[in-house]
Amino acid sequence: MSRSTIIDTPVARLNAFPIFAKVEGRVVAIVGAGDEAFAKARLMVQSSAHLRIIAVEPTAQLADWAAVNGVEILSATYRAELIADAALVFAATDDLDADRRIVADARALRIPVNAVDRPELCDFFTPALVNRAPVAVAIGTEGAGPVLAQMIRARIDLMLSPQLGALARLAAGFRDAVEKRVPRGVARRRFWKEFFTGETARQIDVGQVDAARGTATALLERGGATQGHVALVGAGPGAEDLLTLRAHRLLMEADVIVHDALVPEAVIAMGRRDAERIAAGKRKGCHSKTQSQINALLVELGRQGKRVVRLKSGDPLVFGRAGEEMAALRDAGISYEFVPGVTAAFAAAADFELPLTLRGVSSSMVFTTGHDLKGGPLPDWARLAIGGATVAIYMGRSVAADVAQRLIDAGLAPDTAVAVVENASLSAKRLFHGTLADLPRLQAREDLTGPVMTIIGDAVAGANFERSQALAAHAGARLDLKENAT
Ligand code: SAH
Repeated sequence: MSRSTIIDTPVARLNAFPIFAKVEGRVVAIVGAGDEAFAKARLMVQSSAHLRIIAVEPTAQLADWAAVNGVEILSATYRAELIADAALVFAATDDLDADRRIVADARALRIPVNAVDRPELCDFFTPALVNRAPVAVAIGTEGAGPVLAQMIRARIDLMLSPQLGALARLAAGFRDAVEKRVPRGVARRRFWKEFFTGETARQIDVGQVDAARGTATALLERGGATQGHVALVGAGPGAEDLLTLRAHRLLMEADVIVHDALVPEAVIAMGRRDAERIAAGKRKGCHSKTQSQINALLVELGRQGKRVVRLKSGDPLVFGRAGEEMAALRDAGISYEFVPGVTAAFAAAADFELPLTLRGVSSSMVFTTGHDLKGGPLPDWARLAIGGATVAIYMGRSVAADVAQRLIDAGLAPDTAVAVVENASLSAKRLFHGTLADLPRLQAREDLTGPVMTIIGDAVAGANFERSQALAAHAGARLDLKENAT
């Protein structure tokens, strides 16, 4: 082996190395009364240190805040004795000479000191902080960019459950028992992975601390063997940033992702790289798996102890056949949960700037497929439409002509406004507008290859038609109005 291969590749080195300072019950002194001092006080009050602000004339705002937060205010001229018992000192006077003196005093007392906005005088820097006590994520940039640090902070904050601290505290209570009962190595790692991402974590997330403790105890008794769980998750209408944070978190934890054809690759790719991906896609005309095969697959994966995300477009409970999957899981005794998603109607309305309810015009809305209009008795929702409800039609392209004809026959005005969105929320979206009488043209259009949402009702008139094309501009059948006007 050549000498160079055993030498680590050089990495950029940190000039300020992160460590965590023990401050519990110790004094942290902040000298100054301005905004800088206040900002540091707000940061440090997240710790269990005894906070002391040394300021000759504290503002009323600072004094009030200190009283509420149990912070000591020492209204005195700064002298070195006032910081002598501190574990950390902040010089935040906004006066260079004063800050220099405080830094010199602190160093003489061997106390690490931070001078606000004067990196050259600092022994340490404070991080941007994600606080899930006892868990903390500290972000530092060595002063390169506080804005950058805040951006990173915001992203990490969103990734972590707000209840992570509670989960970590529960974990601390189990540590000794786990060390006694679960062998070190694979079994122990599996225990903790299940603890931090499985049922225990889910129960903590919804505030069921006692139930979580019970679940963790059962997990301990099983020696850490995992139990399957299926999350029926709404992936939203297609744009990956319309996924909910919870959906994102579950995706990152999933062992297996079972997804529909309408869910874009970019969303599926948010899962772990090593997660198994199964396309259960049912797209018009090419059923790759039947519903009962999908039900059986979910049950089987659950029985294998897998953490499964069943990813469905939009919301899982809107035309998603999630009810059947849920029933199969329930019958098999496999735990499951639902995560709502942004349904296509909402995404289409947003793209069209279309108020689904409109004061004085429409105060109810209908989610339908339109397939029940093809024959037989008029469904109830048609009467709601005539009564002024806004109607969102899923899977409606192939029945557009029937829907229009029957609604007109039933008494809905042929000039009722209609908005159509193909690929709502995606950059490939296309918007069309027209009237009920124009709607049949949709059915003949072969250029519409993406999913299509149709919205009908007087509220549609409130939409923004600047970016939409007229349905009437496309050749195709139009209903003969004279014949139907009675
Ligand atoms: N559960 C889904 C609906 C599944 S049914 C939801 O809540 O949105 C499939 C139908 O949804 C499609 O035929 C189409 O009418 C509609 N749809 C789904 N995604 C869409 C999108 N991005 N744009 C327009 N319509 C969409």
